[in-house]
Amino acid sequence: MTTETRLRIAMQKSGRLSDDTQSLLKRCGLKLNVSDRRLLAHVSNMPIDIMRVRSSDIPGLVMDGVCDLGIVGDNTLEEAALERQLMGSKSEYIKTSPLNFGGCRLSIAMPEEFNYQGVDSLNGLRFATTYPQLLKRFASQNGINVDFCMLNGSVEVAPRVGLADGICDLVSTGTTLEANGLKEVEIIFRSTASLIQTVEQLSPKKQSILNTILPRIQGVMKAKESKYIMLHAPKDRISEVSALMPGKETPTILPLAGRDDLVAVHVVATETIFWETMEALKSLGCNSILVMPIEKMMG
Ligand code: ATP
Repeated sequence: MTTETRLRIAMQKSGRLSDDTQSLLKRCGLKLNVSDRRLLAHVSNMPIDIMRVRSSDIPGLVMDGVCDLGIVGDNTLEEAALERQLMGSKSEYIKTSPLNFGGCRLSIAMPEEFNYQGVDSLNGLRFATTYPQLLKRFASQNGINVDFCMLNGSVEVAPRVGLADGICDLVSTGTTLEANGLKEVEIIFRSTASLIQTVEQLSPKKQSILNTILPRIQGVMKAKESKYIMLHAPKDRISEVSALMPGKETPTILPLAGRDDLVAVHVVATETIFWETMEALKSLGCNSILVMPIEKMMG
């Protein structure tokens, strides 16, 4: 257990996770100035330091106990854990909370003309990838042998230039694959960003900071997924109206001045409100339907 009092959190310096991570921390009330170029950014209103590094360095920093917490993609985390196990280095961590950004999948993609007949058709082929350990694990779980060449960027061009038969790379929408004449044939790992924690015991001071920010992180995520809905509904159709609200909590029903037939309904919905739901509400006789974002939630 360290005696340091400032909680140290590792985050990606720049890249796909950095904006979402920074906005999460800011929405949790942390005042941080990340515009400067320093590796360690001070949070001015809480005893927290933010270490801004490359994504691939975050798992090791947390596993070695250099940082107390880290925000990183599960793909990077799992690859690092497998690699470290192989090397005999520390590979343990605590998954404190999954986060609702950075969603992607690690997939095997082949040239469009490749005749894919199931996993066995990948046996003996060579793949360009940044994730050799996850690829090897997939191959051994499926009883096939694969070869790989390690690439840290532009993986999708490898088949075209004759470097590999296929690729094993991260996909979110699939447009990059399509643009490079590739088709996704197997999803081998699904990933989002996660908040991870060192297995080393935190000092009481650090633990108490974590106890403060963790509910805030969860509150920010819940708020992001939730919407506040307000509408006017016919009094005699309240149960049908309530049944239409996705992931609803108990609605608040309020009288409307001068109206005996209508009431105001307020509800927090924890799922997406589709246009179809709003149209169905309207066809029940509801009006003034408002769907609003929620900034913070607790309890
Ligand atoms: P770094 O350059 O910081 O070492 P990186 O090369 O993995 O890391 P990015 O390309 O910014 O950097 O990706 C960071 C993370 O974003 C990925 O590890 C993954 O978890 C997530 N991600 C989400 N969607 C995608 C996608 N379509 N392609 C790549 N990564 C994605």
